[in-house]
Amino acid sequence: MGFQELARSSPHQPCAACRMLRRRCDSNCTLAPYFPSHEIQKFAGVHKVYGASNVVKMIQMEEETKRGDTIKAIVYEATARLRDPVYGNGYVFWQWWRRQRERILLHIFLDCSLMNLV
Ligand SMILES: [Zn+2]
Repeated sequence: MGFQELARSSPHQPCAACRMLRRRCDSNCTLAPYFPSHEIQKFAGVHKVYGASNVVKMIQMEEETKRGDTIKAIVYEATARLRDPVYGNGYVFWQWWRRQRERILLHIFLDCSLMNLV
């Protein structure tokens, strides 16, 4: 038995997406390379936020070389959205902006204090 025959005859482990959606996973599964069987929580979050069919559409719109990065961005955004349903990953920016604003106001206050304006 050659290597290819052996690979074909060995059982294919379903990816996390197919496991969760309880569907047959074959070697042509679009999600299998990005959601291995043991990463079911990663897929669960993405599925909850975007839906599996939308994730497949997003992947298929990308060139194959960029699909890995696309999945990382989708997972990051889904995780942020689940953590903060209102702001999502905008919350990180909002926190950064709030800290910057506080620093600026502190500098203005200190400058005014040094000039005896406060
Ligand atoms: Zn699959």
